[in-house]
Amino acid sequence: MEPIKQRYSKQRETILQVVRSTLVHPNADWIYKETRKQIPNISLGTVYRNLTQLVESGQILKLKDDALVRYDGNIDHHDHFRCTSCGKWYDVQLLDPSAINAFNKNHKFRIESFNLELEGVCEHCAD
Ligand SMILES: [Zn+2]
Ligand SMILES: [Zn+2]
Repeated sequence: MEPIKQRYSKQRETILQVVRSTLVHPNADWIYKETRKQIPNISLGTVYRNLTQLVESGQILKLKDDALVRYDGNIDHHDHFRCTSCGKWYDVQLLDPSAINAFNKNHKFRIESFNLELEGVCEHCAD
């Protein structure tokens, strides 16, 4: 038997790899199904608990899609484009972060972070 602590960190590491392995911005159910391929006896509650801890420690991002919560393994600054036709999320870069510096120089507000969520139709759904 492995020590319990070691087993927990192994679960978290596996879940982190699952989230980082995809660009689909998966929800918890998707992550649960993928994680079970590697840890067959893991519970959905354990997956949720680890996702929360990974978000709190800044290793993954939590995104909201209406009522659905999605997760993102890409923690570098980027914006999101959501296709209203197929529901897919894409990583995009609309605003250069240097635009924020220019804005801050010219206004009384000081923007410290931003995350744009754009909506439209993706190239696969455009025809
Ligand atoms: Zn689409
Ligand atoms: Zn993303």
